[in-house]
Amino acid sequence: MAGCFVAAHPVPGAAQVTGVDPRIEAILAEIDPDRMRAAIDGLVSFGTRSTLSSTDLPEWGIGAARQWILEEMSSYSDRLQVSFDAYEVGPEDAARIRRTTDLRNVLAILPGRSERRIYVSGHYDSLALGDEDGGVEPPTDDPFDRYAPGANDDGSGTVLTMELARVLAQSGMEFDATLVFMAIAGEEQGLVGAARHAARMREEGVEITAVFNNDIIGNHVGGNGISDSRTVRVFSEGPEDSLSRQLARYIRRTSQPYVPGHQVRLIAREDRFGRGGDHTPFNRQGFAAVRFTESRENYSRQHNVFDTPDGMDFEYLARNARVNAASVASLALAPAAPGVAFNLLRRGDSGYDAQLQWRAVEGAVGYRIFWREAWGQDWEHDLWVGDVTEFSLRDMSIDDFVYGVAAVGPDGHESLVSVYVRPGR
Ligand SMILES: [Zn+2]
Repeated sequence: MAGCFVAAHPVPGAAQVTGVDPRIEAILAEIDPDRMRAAIDGLVSFGTRSTLSSTDLPEWGIGAARQWILEEMSSYSDRLQVSFDAYEVGPEDAARIRRTTDLRNVLAILPGRSERRIYVSGHYDSLALGDEDGGVEPPTDDPFDRYAPGANDDGSGTVLTMELARVLAQSGMEFDATLVFMAIAGEEQGLVGAARHAARMREEGVEITAVFNNDIIGNHVGGNGISDSRTVRVFSEGPEDSLSRQLARYIRRTSQPYVPGHQVRLIAREDRFGRGGDHTPFNRQGFAAVRFTESRENYSRQHNVFDTPDGMDFEYLARNARVNAASVASLALAPAAPGVAFNLLRRGDSGYDAQLQWRAVEGAVGYRIFWREAWGQDWEHDLWVGDVTEFSLRDMSIDDFVYGVAAVGPDGHESLVSVYVRPGR
């Protein structure tokens, strides 16, 4: 059903997509909290998913857990290419990798028309500190085989990733971008699995448009008793017009029409204070990557035996999955972002206009330009300008506003916004 999405063109004023694509609505309707609850129970049943735990036991430890994730994702659709992404890691990779270990991320790839990739990820490894054993007897004396349920951190991000793999692959839709669903290991030892993978992608010249990393995303009651089940945070590294900030803005803009009762709170920070996540190694390699995290965390149920499924809300987790899915699908259906450069924003013949120029993108039917006060955090205005590669805004200062441009595909889906900023800013 191509062409069924009618965006309201032109749309001056607030930068908000006003149309919704019924195909994306159908995908969101398939997201199933009960399935996600069952998947969390499945993950927790392996006792621990510590990256250093046993890999040769059939029902305990990370080896059994990753095999289960691989088989689950393989069962969703023949279109998904599921494999291990394996690395031998040791103390030289991170001090907390105490011994040489066979680390494996699990990848499920849904090929698109182009090789350009969009990732959805969560880390499936778990960690339990402290002396409690949770009343669960591990099968070996190895300290790394101790009980570490990791339900919310980060079973939540793992099952969200698995659920998106299922509904997007089973939709039967063909996307422009290639979708990669990644269950990551080694996060708790220093983001090792993500770092090795991101470095390999950079080395191989793979183009990654966006990484949607989900970590601690399924609980809405803070340890202080304050509850918030209607918002989710998206953390992105600066500066204010970095690739990751464009991705964060895009997520709010594109997801809100589909999930209007669930607010995306953009946080202009790389991560929470003193904490890390798997989006950061992708940032370090120059890719756009953000972190989704619940708005109210319970720190007393993280990294210990109390991180169990009864501390989660699966309806809340499902709403967060829908926010992810709406933006992932929109971005995957859109063409690539147009090429811009700092010197393609000029004052025009008059010397007092804003003249924007950009390089055409394959598959685009037109372009939308964006601007905001240079002091503003998010786009304040947008304008559909049609199938051109140059547009002038009369009497608009190029000093006082930030400008950008997005490519629009035949069904109305927009790319990320490319911004006119000095290189490295
Ligand atoms: Zn985590």
